[in-house]
Amino acid sequence: MNKLYLTTAQLKSEMERCLYCAEKPCMKACPANCSPADFITTAKAGTDDAYRRAASLILKANPLGQMCGLTCPDQFCMKACSRQHLDVPIKIPAVQATILEKARSAGVLEPPEKVTPNGRNVAVVGAGPAGLAAVAVLARKGYSVTVFEGSDRIGGAAKLIPDARLPYEVIEKDWEYIKTFGDITWQMNFRVANPVDLLKDGYDGVIVAVGEPHSAKMGIPGEGLAVSFMDYLADPEKYKTSGNVAILGGGAVAVDCAVTARDNGAEFVEMFVRRRIPDMKLTMEERKWLLDKMVDITSMTRVKKIEEVNGAYTLHTCKTRYNGTKLEDIPDTTIKRPGFAHVVMAVGSIADPKTEAEKVLYAGDCSHGGSTIVEAVASGKNAANELHAAITGEVEETVCPVSRTVTYKAKSCAVIE
Ligand code: SF4
Repeated sequence: MNKLYLTTAQLKSEMERCLYCAEKPCMKACPANCSPADFITTAKAGTDDAYRRAASLILKANPLGQMCGLTCPDQFCMKACSRQHLDVPIKIPAVQATILEKARSAGVLEPPEKVTPNGRNVAVVGAGPAGLAAVAVLARKGYSVTVFEGSDRIGGAAKLIPDARLPYEVIEKDWEYIKTFGDITWQMNFRVANPVDLLKDGYDGVIVAVGEPHSAKMGIPGEGLAVSFMDYLADPEKYKTSGNVAILGGGAVAVDCAVTARDNGAEFVEMFVRRRIPDMKLTMEERKWLLDKMVDITSMTRVKKIEEVNGAYTLHTCKTRYNGTKLEDIPDTTIKRPGFAHVVMAVGSIADPKTEAEKVLYAGDCSHGGSTIVEAVASGKNAANELHAAITGEVEETVCPVSRTVTYKAKSCAVIE
């Protein structure tokens, strides 16, 4: 076990703090409807068999359980955990990731039972978290699922998360498990120009989960000199430098870029953020990460222009303030900030326009904007269940109450079996 996971002693200690709340607030807050109350109860014995059964519970609710365990923010189950009223919430995502890692390391994870084919074919376009979750649901319902992925690796936007937080091998572990769910084939390096055409090719339905493939623009002079976060995180070696790096943006992806720059040898990394530091939507873990890596944050600052001067980049910045309703520039505060080896732009991403059609459903970031992996899983599960209903007319009856703490939640409590 490496430091991504809890030690056996830490795992035991966290699980012993669970109050086994009858109302399961942790489950209600989980976008994927995973139930920490149940998997902690099951794993508490600490044996391989207990981890096997607990892992099975997790993966039936969330087939990307290990990825989510390593990446889930503290805004879902941990925010709802009753234990916070006594001391601090249980580190539920870390418990989840550790249980799965233990079960997989011990080789006790059982594949799901053989599924009966239903004679229908569906296509899933995009092998990111939402697409993979949809594949899992549809395969367990007996569909023959073909996955079309435009690149040579599965994972979608999750591939861009630095290895220090989400090693690629964990994405592969979850995917290898999903591959045992049923009849799944995949076409890598295959771009689908128009998903509606897949219906003409004989597929009974299509899920499109292609994420947001384009970086958002800032609309400032010289922004073409900046590297997009997608290009930067996809190949950080290409931008390796011992010099200074500027990161434009203050969200979780900007943090990934800043930490990657420091890990890649940058002497000084500075994030430029229009808002106040307390308003940055970051978890405690991400804030701690910035401190640990000695990343500077220049807040209430807007970058107005980027220019190249003698082989380095100069930023023109000005201070911002709230005018009661929105942020505005403060006059006469523009200064030049020279000497950056790279400027990385991490201010959001944009989806392609949708091609609407019956039995072509959208899921994940391309459907409802950028989100966490677990919300993408919820979206993929929902889209798969909705497609199944559209194809067969069968609607699942069990509907979970939608928690206000999440932006997107799986509508069905039904597990994937
Ligand atoms: S809310 Fe927290 S303490 Fe209660 S069952 Fe869930 S994990 Fe355990």
